[in-house]
Amino acid sequence: MSNSTKYVFVTGGVTSSLGKGIISASLAKLLQARGYSVTIQKLDPYINVDPGTLNPYEHGECFVTEDGAETDLDLGHYERFLNVPTSQANNVTTGKIYQSVIDKERRGDFLGKTVQVIPHITDEIKERIQILGKKGTYDIVITEIGGTVGDIESLPYVEAVRQMMWEFENDCIVLHLTLVPYLSAAGELKTKPTQHSVKQLLELGVQPDILCCRTEYELDLNLRRKIAKFCNVSMNAVIEAKDAETIYDVPILMQAEELDKVVLEKLSLPTKSVPNLESWCDFLSRLKQPKSELRIGLVGKYVELKDSYKSISEAFIHAGVANETKVNIEWIHSEKITQKNVKELVGHLDGVLVAPGFGSRGISGKIETVRYVRENNIPFLGICLGMQCAVIEFARNVLNWPEAHTTEIVEDCKVPVINMMEEQKEISEMGGTMRLGSYSCQLTPGSKVSLAYNTDKIKERHRHRYEFNNEFLDIFEENGLKATGKNPESGLVEVIELEGHPWFVASQFHPEYRSTVDNPHPLFVAFVHAVLENKGLN
Ligand code: GLN
Repeated sequence: MSNSTKYVFVTGGVTSSLGKGIISASLAKLLQARGYSVTIQKLDPYINVDPGTLNPYEHGECFVTEDGAETDLDLGHYERFLNVPTSQANNVTTGKIYQSVIDKERRGDFLGKTVQVIPHITDEIKERIQILGKKGTYDIVITEIGGTVGDIESLPYVEAVRQMMWEFENDCIVLHLTLVPYLSAAGELKTKPTQHSVKQLLELGVQPDILCCRTEYELDLNLRRKIAKFCNVSMNAVIEAKDAETIYDVPILMQAEELDKVVLEKLSLPTKSVPNLESWCDFLSRLKQPKSELRIGLVGKYVELKDSYKSISEAFIHAGVANETKVNIEWIHSEKITQKNVKELVGHLDGVLVAPGFGSRGISGKIETVRYVRENNIPFLGICLGMQCAVIEFARNVLNWPEAHTTEIVEDCKVPVINMMEEQKEISEMGGTMRLGSYSCQLTPGSKVSLAYNTDKIKERHRHRYEFNNEFLDIFEENGLKATGKNPESGLVEVIELEGHPWFVASQFHPEYRSTVDNPHPLFVAFVHAVLENKGLN
């Protein structure tokens, strides 16, 4: 290989949902803590070009990178663990691969050749894997292959891995994550599914170097020996991945299993220093010994699938730790909230977050929630659609404009306090066309947000088509709802806050995408702090 970047491929066997993303992020964390620069990439075998057009029920949250990619939620874990931003190149889908190959074919790049899965699709996959390596920024690129080995749709990816293992023998390894289930009838852990899953990989020409075995119980020496023997891996490369109390324990558990050491040895890299995990351990011990507990409601329409709000719930964990408290999230379905029951559903909460979203389902429940928390002085954080609902609620109930709405829901609305952004009006395609990624925001000195950030200039990530309608701004401000954050170039309102309320702040951007273990997000930290204060716990 021309450069010295090393590649770790992470595959999964036996079943989905074994936590490849967390294992990859934990390994990356350990390697980073030893002084290596590491990034993680996710290859997703579905045909959507990106998850931006997917309903969260299908795929959980859509994570947005600084450079505006709509990506798999695993990228959120990568950023939260590593505290390094990811980019467009960190998430590749089959849709992206095919789109690019077909574009090349239309341009005539293949010079009359028949375009085939092998070599054209696999070449494209290999190129995408190496893009991050070629940047020269990273010593190690960890590439997680979505899906389970044996799935038809992941075959080209496994084939690309096979080819890279062959071409760059000394620079690539495969870590295979499997399940060692406990059969209560037999009273035993069973290794057969792992053996079969490795056989399946072998049939595809790939010999894993390391096996990470998800298990509910300890893997004793006999079991480790058995797995090593049947699967052609060394004893020290059979890694126990026991169920953890929190995902943030996993790097520590992997360190105890010496996963990072084994990886470095197999990649012929020096182990360097012992990983410095001091701040990580400090985070963990504060996470496990909170001094108080809070109940914060998360009002959204996808609450049955908590992965839909992954970055928000993780941001609350980080902000809780920063405030030495535990945030218990109460998941509240916005569709169930009415004027009649809002007190019963929301009244007992210490704070409320109204979540982002699209479309009309559940929006009246969100608006009702905002009214309740505004009138009853309950600390409130609104994000994206959550901010838009706060604007609509204020217009209807304080400014007395009953017809106020967003043109997302009522296109010919008479009082469009939330309006489609000018540049969005010409766009007809749905994929990747929103206002996406990082934009600057100027905060009003002395406002609650500027105090939270401790600066007046910030950058945050966006994902929306609609915005506050500036035609109405003066009237809102005269009545106490202030725009305390604006985009310096376009004047778009990015943050609003209400005067005379303990803490009522809402943002058009998504602060949750930037919260990490090392850098809990200032807005979440300030919100949780305000909730504690309002409760008399500070
Ligand atoms: N649907 C709203 C818009 O497009 C809000 C988007 C969001 O909450 N991410 O502007």
